[in-house]
Amino acid sequence: MSNEIIRVQYAAKPETNVYQQAEGGRPINKILLGTWAGVVKDDGRERVRVITAGPDGWIRRNELRDNPGLKIFFVDVGQGDGMLVETLDKRLLIDGGPNTNLRRYLRGYQYSYILRKNERVRIDTVLVSHFDADHYNGLIALFNDEQFEFGTVYHNGIARFHNLKRERPAGYNTDLGKMDNDLLSTTFSDINDARNMLQAGGLQAMFRRFLEAVVNAHDQGRLDSLSRLTTQQATVPGYEKDKNLSIEVLGPVPKLVGGQVHWPWFGDSSHTRNGHSLVLKLNYSEGGQQGKTVLLGGDLNTEAEAYLIQHYGNSNPFMVDVAKSCHHGSSDFLVEYMDRVKPFATVISSGDNESYAHPRAEAIGCAGKYSRGERPKVFSTELARSINSAGDVLYGMINCRTDGKQIIMAQMKERRTGADIWDSYKI
Ligand SMILES: [Zn+2]
Repeated sequence: MSNEIIRVQYAAKPETNVYQQAEGGRPINKILLGTWAGVVKDDGRERVRVITAGPDGWIRRNELRDNPGLKIFFVDVGQGDGMLVETLDKRLLIDGGPNTNLRRYLRGYQYSYILRKNERVRIDTVLVSHFDADHYNGLIALFNDEQFEFGTVYHNGIARFHNLKRERPAGYNTDLGKMDNDLLSTTFSDINDARNMLQAGGLQAMFRRFLEAVVNAHDQGRLDSLSRLTTQQATVPGYEKDKNLSIEVLGPVPKLVGGQVHWPWFGDSSHTRNGHSLVLKLNYSEGGQQGKTVLLGGDLNTEAEAYLIQHYGNSNPFMVDVAKSCHHGSSDFLVEYMDRVKPFATVISSGDNESYAHPRAEAIGCAGKYSRGERPKVFSTELARSINSAGDVLYGMINCRTDGKQIIMAQMKERRTGADIWDSYKI
């Protein structure tokens, strides 16, 4: 039988059955809403023949659609955050984790079909929530990978300098730069700033390697631009309100002094750089309907959440359908903030063998308590990760899929029973 693809479609049901036969029989696999299916035979009957990433087979034609919708892959990067976001025409990375997990996932699985053709994988947009190792170290090797190319890399504009004051540029009294009267005035934005900072020296080693990777990729024509993102932009450029995927920028909120971006100091360096994480509200809709929303808030902490609540006052832009738990399920959160987010489902991204005890019991408890719905869902990459009976490590990917009308969350079962492979929930 010919395996020439006559059209590309995507699963339309939360779990779409793949059958072995054109008629009758039990399903041999189930694929999640939005999963790719290459149609290779359509003779007008109820089922069409497809090839998939799993076993090939037959799918009901009315259970396929032409748009994959929004797919968010919360990749199990261990103690850190790393998310891949896909729509019909965009690929985004939001953070890159502390290690090579995300890159290995992209190379070895998600985009192996592109690399096999010897083509470059294009990531349209990269959003770095803040410059802590568990959010950006994994991006350095990816930027240095010549089989990848990138559009714009957005970041919060807060750089990292040497721990020792004498090693930093003159006048920088903190490892984030110059701070006066609880306002940090050192910030950067574009490739020219990156070049200047590399020239001036005094950078923290990992941050220097990050800037070098960005500049090198740019010089090789594989990376378009670098740019600071704050609430001065209402939405991420290219993801405005009229697009299927719009991304609202709810944080960081800078203080403008003489028109210049400054950052409120949240007690210490760590709280300041975490607290000014990018806070992004994704809204996916098709055809002007209201859509479904997801909030990704980096590593916000108590001080930052109080600052954001004060900034937004009586308006509450934070309420969403699905939220990533801030700071890997740390205890450093405000109940009042969680109560504003009030999602139906929460995702916690964290690792084993770390000294923070993430996710903390009270963060898990509050994620459930300050949710909407009778049966709130709390997902954890750390819980989803396991070892199967054959001894393979099953990484704890958490999947979020929406077509704008329905939104589902799913994780793979540790062991499949026939076609039953997903632990999935309609939110
Ligand atoms: Zn973190």
